[in-house]
Amino acid sequence: MGTVTLQGLRKSFGRVQALDGVTLDVPDGSFFVVLGPSGAGKTTTLRTIAGLEKPDAGSVHLDGRDATGDAPADRDLAMVFQNYALYPRHTAYENIASPLRARGRSPGEIAEAVDRISGLLHIERLLRRRPAQMSGGEMQRVALARALVRSPRAFLMDEPLTNLDLKLRVEMRTELSRIHRSLGATFVYVTNDQVEALSMADRVAVLKEGRVQQAGTPAEVYERPANRWVAGFVGSPPISLLACRAEGDRLIGTDGWSLPRPGWTTAEDDRPLLLGLRSEDLSVEQRGDASLPGELYGLEPLGDRTVVDVRVGTAILKVKARPTISGSPGERLLVTVDLDRAHLFDASTGQSLS
Ligand code: ATP
Repeated sequence: MGTVTLQGLRKSFGRVQALDGVTLDVPDGSFFVVLGPSGAGKTTTLRTIAGLEKPDAGSVHLDGRDATGDAPADRDLAMVFQNYALYPRHTAYENIASPLRARGRSPGEIAEAVDRISGLLHIERLLRRRPAQMSGGEMQRVALARALVRSPRAFLMDEPLTNLDLKLRVEMRTELSRIHRSLGATFVYVTNDQVEALSMADRVAVLKEGRVQQAGTPAEVYERPANRWVAGFVGSPPISLLACRAEGDRLIGTDGWSLPRPGWTTAEDDRPLLLGLRSEDLSVEQRGDASLPGELYGLEPLGDRTVVDVRVGTAILKVKARPTISGSPGERLLVTVDLDRAHLFDASTGQSLS
């Protein structure tokens, strides 16, 4: 078993409120990502789970038992950090075996565990080498194997891929997801990289200023953001937000545009709103019922697609288009909107009205 339940965690450092009532439910065997910008309280959350920080209020339950007062060593958790220091004079095998030796496991048990994890990480051929005889990426894998060789209640990972170059990072994401599935263990993984979060997590909690903004599956957080902040933080290119209000059966933009009012919104007339539109729900290449007049502001070719920046009044809309699209700045365009997939937020509270 490996469930982690946080209830109302609060923690301050002097005048900084690092955690301001964090409540989370990490199911057994899940790949749970805590996502948020720098300073959001992610590391403090992880350290509190590990017992390295004592919360001012709230509780940590492990497998349903209150562990808030337990020493770190009694929690049966493994922490995986950004920096992977390997013992330079030891072989990869000895490095990976060291956490098991420290726990007094038998040589047979150790050999079996090292074999299994080396197979999972495809590093069998490195086992006799020392760190100086390996590439950076190989050392990273060996270090990860050392962290994963135990079978604790849960693995706590603090941005473990941060120090890798982009190619290796992308590779390791796939690898970690695969390893997670093979081990069936609970992973609590902290990152500020939303692509990393969306690609690996089966559940994600979005944290800002010590508060959970939203928790759910990656699809829920992306497709039904609880507020404008989550909508803006998750997704690339960022969601476009247009100021407007509802009036009868129309949405009227502050800049003068007008669209049919979506049937799904609960917004009452005249309340200041923000219409949230993601690039993939906009088109300058197809015509539909709902469209906004604008002018081409710029093109951002990204290989497999181009993001077209279209100025609508004072706002810039990011529109996904074919990679071959062309045009000149100032050219007039109609942006077709898929209103069924749009989002509406209260302009003052930021809460979703979808
Ligand atoms: P990052 O992505 O930059 O690592 P984070 O989301 O992990 O950020 P935390 O490290 O949890 O954020 O920090 C949350 C807040 O608490 C920050 O404002 C930080 O400066 C503060 N903080 C964390 N640890 C301490 C400490 N030991 N002493 C004082 N302030 C701290």
